[in-house]
Amino acid sequence: MLVSQLYAPTLRETPAEAEIVSHQLMLRSGMIRKAAGGVYTYMPLALRVLRKIENIVRQEMDAKGGQELLMPIIQPAEMWQETGRWDVYGDEMFRLKDRHNRDFCLGPTHEEMITTLVRSDVRSYRQLPLKLYQIQNKYRDERRPRFGLMRGREFIMKDLYSFDKDEDGLAKSYDQMYEAYTAIFNRCGLTFRAVEADGGAIGGSGTHEFMVIADSGEAAIVYCPSCEYAANVEKAELEAISIPKEELKTLSIVDTPGTKSIEAVTTLLGITADKVIKTLVYNTDKGVVVALVRGDHEVNEIKLQNLVDCLTIELADEKTIVETLGSIPGFIGPVGIKTPMLIADSTVMNQYNAVCGANTSDKHYCNVNAKRDFSPTIIADIRLIQENDPCPHCSLPVKTARGIEVGQVFKLHTKYSNALKATYLDMNGREQLMVMGCYGIGVSRTMAATIEQNNDEYGIIWPAAIAPYHVVIVPISSKDEAQMSLANSIYKTLNASGIEAVFDDRNERPGVKFKDADLIGYPLKVTVGPKTINENIIEVKVRRTGEVLYFDVNNYLEEIK
Ligand code: ATP
Ligand code: MG
Ligand code: MG
Ligand code: MG
Repeated sequence: MLVSQLYAPTLRETPAEAEIVSHQLMLRSGMIRKAAGGVYTYMPLALRVLRKIENIVRQEMDAKGGQELLMPIIQPAEMWQETGRWDVYGDEMFRLKDRHNRDFCLGPTHEEMITTLVRSDVRSYRQLPLKLYQIQNKYRDERRPRFGLMRGREFIMKDLYSFDKDEDGLAKSYDQMYEAYTAIFNRCGLTFRAVEADGGAIGGSGTHEFMVIADSGEAAIVYCPSCEYAANVEKAELEAISIPKEELKTLSIVDTPGTKSIEAVTTLLGITADKVIKTLVYNTDKGVVVALVRGDHEVNEIKLQNLVDCLTIELADEKTIVETLGSIPGFIGPVGIKTPMLIADSTVMNQYNAVCGANTSDKHYCNVNAKRDFSPTIIADIRLIQENDPCPHCSLPVKTARGIEVGQVFKLHTKYSNALKATYLDMNGREQLMVMGCYGIGVSRTMAATIEQNNDEYGIIWPAAIAPYHVVIVPISSKDEAQMSLANSIYKTLNASGIEAVFDDRNERPGVKFKDADLIGYPLKVTVGPKTINENIIEVKVRRTGEVLYFDVNNYLEEIK
């Protein structure tokens, strides 16, 4: 590629909207351009990096028996209704209708799609295990798309789904994927940790997140320098503090937003009122916990979710909240309930009573404005684990760090095969549920995370395995024909031998060419100047170390390789 023709318009200034270094450098180096919040065009340099990451991912998935396919982005509502996630997924799902008024969504993930596919084609235990994956755009209407590709609303994900005969098979598939992920992120040149994590909205249990260690990371992780223990903070916190589940299960809080009680509930949850946007209803076998969480709600959502099954209800719709409470199977209403209830106001209480057929009275609930036999200490005990807290495994002090979640491996067990009736016939001709796992990698996020870990004041420093090109050749003077022709021949030689090179043939001052080279972050820069012409020596600078090497013009190829 000739730099004069390369579509990579570089910017000298750092764009104001970019808060973190990967976003800044991708804009400045002409790798991405924004189309809308969280929606970006990948320019040619970025696409080359993405393709390289994808190919590493493909190789490692294939090595574990993965088979690539490509599923539709547009998904019909019906399969999501079958699993119940059409209602549960909430605002993050991009929804659309066709001309016949049928509901569809843009796939935020593909459990429903793949399970529906496999259930109709797989009949026998002989067809299992099966590992299917795709690399494709995903759509999530993130509440706060930000940090460029880090939290996009359209982003590239690799998602693999495993189908096994039984739990042993799943355990094996899970371990294989764990190994593959370790290989992938190592090959990408990343410093990362696999941490134990919570189930989140996908459901199931047994999951690890792969976290790239970076100060800009949105996730907090905790790890123990003395033993193998590493976890997402939310998970660690629950283990470390171990709130008695029984106690939490006997607590019910019913509330709606916009009332004074937000204050009380937020005090309970240890968060500030400006963080409340969502009403979360937690169904337990003994009752329901409803919590209000705004803003950075995930921490608290996960906290409670780990203890009880979760159902999310949209904000500001009291009727829905009340109806949902009433529709929860096995829900034990406040009638006769001996446990404390917290209800926001009489309007909600009355609606609640109507829908649930309950007759909650002042005796049964504590208005937050009133003093309450209610003890908030159960939840108030929850706090984020801190540096030097005792390790839940070995009790020695833990350390904390920030991480970027680049991947997650997840045991789904039979959650989806049960909901969608994906069964097979075992050796004895008996019908069994398939046992599933799902495994995601944020391909575009991995590119951004790599830059977070590999940069300096001059720009990006690509690890060779995923660099857009390996070498840039810069003649000092574009007016000097000898330099230009030698540079051109080096360029041709390198490319012919499989080293991806670009030739900066622009009629620019050397300073401009060097600056761009550093900004874009090619691993090697070959300078062709008077010394090359007069002494047959080329100068090769290593972007990462700044080391300068001199090679004979006739004998550089092996060295560069
Ligand atoms: P997060 O916690 O950051 O919201 P997630 O847990 O919701 O991510 P998963 O459902 O586990 O994401 O999806 C698999 C992978 O897809 C993640 O590990 C991450 O690398 C990537 N990913 C998820 N959401 C985004 C996004 N909005 N933009 C870019 N990549 C994303
Ligand atoms: Mg998410
Ligand atoms: Mg996550
Ligand atoms: Mg995840």
